[in-house]
Amino acid sequence: MTVRRAGTDDAALRPPPGPPPRPVRRPARHPLRRLRGAAVAASLAVVLTAAPGAPGAAADEGAAPSPGAAGLGDPLFPSSGNGGYEVRHYTLDFDWSAPRTAFPAAAVLDAVATQSLSRFNLDFAGNTLGRVTVDGRTAATAREGDELVVTPERALRRGRPFTVRVEYTADPTRLRHRDDAIEDYGWIPTPDGTVLYPQPDGAKMIFPANDHPSRRAPFTFHLTAPRGLTAVANGTLTGREDVGADRTRWSYESGQAMATQLVQVAIGHYTVLTGTGPGGLPLRDVIPTDLVDRVEPYRRLTPDHLAWLEQRLGRYPFSTYGVLAAHTDLGVALETQTLSLLPEADLLGSRVDAERDLVHELAHQWFGDSVGLKAWSDLWLSEGHARFYERLYSEEHGGVSFEQAMRAAYRAHDLWRRDYGAPAAPTEPALFKRMRYDGSALVLYALREQVGDAAFRAVERAWVERYRDRPAGTADYVELASRVAGQDLRGFLSAWLYGDRTPPMPGHPDWTVDPVPAAP
Ligand SMILES: [Zn+2]
Repeated sequence: MTVRRAGTDDAALRPPPGPPPRPVRRPARHPLRRLRGAAVAASLAVVLTAAPGAPGAAADEGAAPSPGAAGLGDPLFPSSGNGGYEVRHYTLDFDWSAPRTAFPAAAVLDAVATQSLSRFNLDFAGNTLGRVTVDGRTAATAREGDELVVTPERALRRGRPFTVRVEYTADPTRLRHRDDAIEDYGWIPTPDGTVLYPQPDGAKMIFPANDHPSRRAPFTFHLTAPRGLTAVANGTLTGREDVGADRTRWSYESGQAMATQLVQVAIGHYTVLTGTGPGGLPLRDVIPTDLVDRVEPYRRLTPDHLAWLEQRLGRYPFSTYGVLAAHTDLGVALETQTLSLLPEADLLGSRVDAERDLVHELAHQWFGDSVGLKAWSDLWLSEGHARFYERLYSEEHGGVSFEQAMRAAYRAHDLWRRDYGAPAAPTEPALFKRMRYDGSALVLYALREQVGDAAFRAVERAWVERYRDRPAGTADYVELASRVAGQDLRGFLSAWLYGDRTPPMPGHPDWTVDPVPAAP
């Protein structure tokens, strides 16, 4: 995601005058814990529950059935995701009626047991729970906080495919708040409809899920809404039929698998504008009908942005792309897969600001969407890359100097390390703070200074190709960078990613880090 607000942006570096600043974000409520050596070492060794088929997957053929784990062991979000099964496909069926009215919903999860299961968990923080079945038979359920515990009539043997159907009532006003750049997340009501903001762990408010970024599956959507409104989701429209006298059912297929945090469903008075990008890529923008003319100058830049990024990163990783503009004062954009969500204000201000957001979310389709996250502490790989390419593009298109912005980030880096954790060692409350944006783009800048531009470009190309359509982590990047650049970068990158103090910037011996004021 990205945000344009005082405190997260470089207003001081930008040529005046800009659009009026938006309100300053509330200060963090949570005291931030200083990272200690032990925490740093632990975060280096994050190993989540192995995926099925991977070495280390539970070897319990014939073992007595046991409960699946309630989480995947992510140090920042321990209860996110679940053990004992993998979801192979989601089908979501929403019978939506109005922005603030609860509605009937159903989710069907096609899954495979990765251990013999007596029961298993889904992440679910939705509204009223209805009937739950496993392979058509009613299952016993219990809700424990954000966990839905499902006990099938009979235990599930390891390796066995099974289908869970959950009927529930969805509340399209259900959202939560974080005191970092995320702000509100979950269901976001708009004046005439709804959009989704599932990042980081908000998908469970929207549907029952294996809600962790390392887990992905294809989605089918069936969205029934009042006739006259438009309903959209990730991927491609596969059907539209009238239902009864005054409702329409829209169906979409995501195509490639996606993480639950990247799901998008939008309903409202939208106009869908199609086009073609580089290489014949189908483009689809979803624009509030009353804004179509006003956002046109920026909306039509997407093919240029795609061409610019493809020149550096190779082919765009999905089969369609577009921008969803939303009537919301949310203040943040989100890289929902194949359909980036941008608040309307992002497309109504200056061209430099609009392009920064558009390029940032588009870059995420490579970094964060196609190449996913193994653990939440890998977020620097997603946000750092999105900010890096956003700034590189912006410098070439009327924005501030990349080097100046990085020099400013360098000055603040010791302070950010103390307050937000080192780039790859975030604390949970400080996950989406500036260290993961400019602070992490700075790590990539340092790497480029260290190995040179040609080697850096080769590393980046290799990264998005090797890990296309799968999750990858910090250790994977360090290993690949060392191999492709032909030098052992483990010490160099570890100091940048995990150290308490900011290392010297290669090639810039004159750059200095501001001293950190002593704690009171
Ligand atoms: Zn972002």
